[in-house]
Amino acid sequence: MDHLRELLAKQKAFFHEGKTRETPVRYERLRLLRDAIRRYEPDIITALRKDLNKSEYETYLTELGVIYEEIKYVMKHLKTWTKPKRVKTPLMLFGSRSYICPEPYGVSLIISPWNYPFQLTVSPLIGAIAAGNCVVLKPSELAPHTAKVINQMLTGIFESEFVAVVEGGVETSSALLDLPFDHIFFTGSTRVGKIVMEKAARSLTPFTLELGGKSPVIVTEDAHIDLAARRLVWGKFINAGQTCVAPDFLYVHEKVKEALIIRMKTEISRAFGENPLVNPNYTRIVNEQHFARLSGFLNDGKVIYGGQKDEEKLLIAPTLLDEVTWEMPVMQEEIFGPILPVFSYQEIDEVIQVIREKPKPLALYLFTENRETGKKVIESVSFGGGAINDTLVHLATPYLPFGGVGPSGIGSYHGKFSFDCFSHQKGIVKQSTKIDFPFRYHFSQSGLKLLKKMMK
Ligand code: NAD
Repeated sequence: MDHLRELLAKQKAFFHEGKTRETPVRYERLRLLRDAIRRYEPDIITALRKDLNKSEYETYLTELGVIYEEIKYVMKHLKTWTKPKRVKTPLMLFGSRSYICPEPYGVSLIISPWNYPFQLTVSPLIGAIAAGNCVVLKPSELAPHTAKVINQMLTGIFESEFVAVVEGGVETSSALLDLPFDHIFFTGSTRVGKIVMEKAARSLTPFTLELGGKSPVIVTEDAHIDLAARRLVWGKFINAGQTCVAPDFLYVHEKVKEALIIRMKTEISRAFGENPLVNPNYTRIVNEQHFARLSGFLNDGKVIYGGQKDEEKLLIAPTLLDEVTWEMPVMQEEIFGPILPVFSYQEIDEVIQVIREKPKPLALYLFTENRETGKKVIESVSFGGGAINDTLVHLATPYLPFGGVGPSGIGSYHGKFSFDCFSHQKGIVKQSTKIDFPFRYHFSQSGLKLLKKMMK
């Protein structure tokens, strides 16, 4: 993999020329990126159709729209963010000034997954460029058409010393991770996240891990059932459930379980039709391996809605499972498909207990009209981020950090958090040469007495 080593060396040399640090250059490159995405929109839509049978509506909503919003927001604030930020100085350092200077790490490696193959490659790229880095991107080999379009689009606007796309699978990813990048941004599974962290640890390379997990959704007795059903069905079955923050399983209060299930069935058929397998806009499962894995889950518990599949087209209908236990395979791993196990509960404390015993999830959603219950759940369970009375929406705002905690991820991004994620915060004290208090020096007679007064 000598060519990868050479590419990194070229990017490091380019980075040290200092061009990427200049704010107007960063701004101009973000503009170039935005305009290129606009030009490539039809190709991106076609590629996503080929890779996942993603509809134009889903592509715009989850892959293009969010990216346009992100670029617009970052461009608007870039100038402010890049400026050194003056902060207070303690009395001990009287006469001096202190600054936080955000500096780019250097060359960042971005490795992305297949489920939102465009958005999850380009969104971190925006942060990396805004922060002044050079970038090597490794898109997922499981969405090859999108990877090709991204490659073509970026090669057309950026020199490879600045941004380069390296297509390839596990071997390529692994070889890249062996190189001395200045920062690694990885989105993918918790299993591979551990490999990335191990590799980063060898060279103490700063890293960000955006991982997955089993994200719960809770519907309480007093929830607005109609809206809960609609928003839950939307967030669970968009992209055929292949969403890192999709609700993985549902806990509904036993008193409203039946009503919620009836509403969810109506909402599913309203969104995808009576037979989703013949709906030309229903997203497919990414490959045979995932199709077989998900098909296996259909044997767990009892299918109370959906359950149909088409092996040839890799389609699985939105499915609701009842009578599931935590011992069943479907509850042993992140589902990452259009299957929703439904549990009922009597006391919210039972649910809190169950979630606390599992690895910290990437997201949590709670449908309730009760403020106290909302506060209690949010405060008693640790998870990456989430929403009350909705699903997924917390990732569609640049004002919130998006990321997991522990097994669901380390670090966060979006908006200013993306800029920070790709920056080192360098702290600088600019001392005065006009005054020089003697008390800190060894030779000072009354130094100790004064120090004790000032530092307590
Ligand atoms: P994955 O971990 O299998 O692959 C992600 C990337 O890592 C790909 O580019 C792949 O080529 C590379 N890779 C795979 N095996 C590797 C290895 N052994 N060494 C080095 N690199 C390797 O994940 P995936 O199947 O593409 O995506 C699904 C997972 O990603 C789910 O767990 C999902 O929750 C998670 N995800 C998280 C987010 C988030 O923002 N937190 C977003 C999307 C997906």
